Amino acid sequence: NTFADIDLGEGLNENIKRCKFVKPTPIQRHAIPIAVAGRDLMACAQTGSGKTAAFCFPIICGILRGHLSHTKSVSMHRGAPVAYPLALILSPTRELSCQIHEEAKKFAYKTGIKVVVVYGGAPISHQFHNMERGVDILVATPGRLVDMIERARVSLRKIKYLALDEADRMLDMGFEPQIRKIVEQMDMPAPGTRQTMLLSATFPDEIQRLASDFLSNYIFLSV
Ligand code: AMP
Repeated sequence: NTFADIDLGEGLNENIKRCKFVKPTPIQRHAIPIAVAGRDLMACAQTGSGKTAAFCFPIICGILRGHLSHTKSVSMHRGAPVAYPLALILSPTRELSCQIHEEAKKFAYKTGIKVVVVYGGAPISHQFHNMERGVDILVATPGRLVDMIERARVSLRKIKYLALDEADRMLDMGFEPQIRKIVEQMDMPAPGTRQTMLLSATFPDEIQRLASDFLSNYIFLSV
């Protein structure tokens, strides 16, 4: 019934204490152990439920466990830097992306994990510059990310963790083609071993379809 009961590793536990989180919220209590065990997840989650931590903790925990020998998150290709994040968090709006970024930075404090946010409606050059300094967890809105992929400044080849936050809102905003394009990038050259978490407040047919297309052998969670 406390975060200490879930083994998230020393670095993350310290940061949870620093954030003054003592008791996991219902979504956190159920989702975190499942996701830390490596399972795909489709979760019903409203704003204010603590969903950000629910998908960030397993991502940070996984990266810190060092299942991944991630040597360099930026490489040069034809004279231009290309970023290779390990985790991608997609969200519908600039506001939500920035909120997730702020929270994720607190959770990843002093762990060496770099968190970067990119979104539309702001100059892309500044965001390129931030990515060039290294990125392990990328928080992005779908349109801006597709733009960056097309400019070959970010590659999703090394993504091991994908979280789709407020998936129903992303579909309402017409982002389905961009989301599909992004996930296709991760499956090249072949479907990989990524872990996917899909969060949505509602579960219409379109969301069920995304779940069956993007998740494998997933657990459905409604709290
Ligand atoms: P979210 O639903 O992820 O936007 O979180 C809503 C707010 O609750 C944020 O300000 C979080 O920092 C806070 N929060 C999330 N989980 C916990 C927790 N277990 N204990 C206390 N506050 C929390």
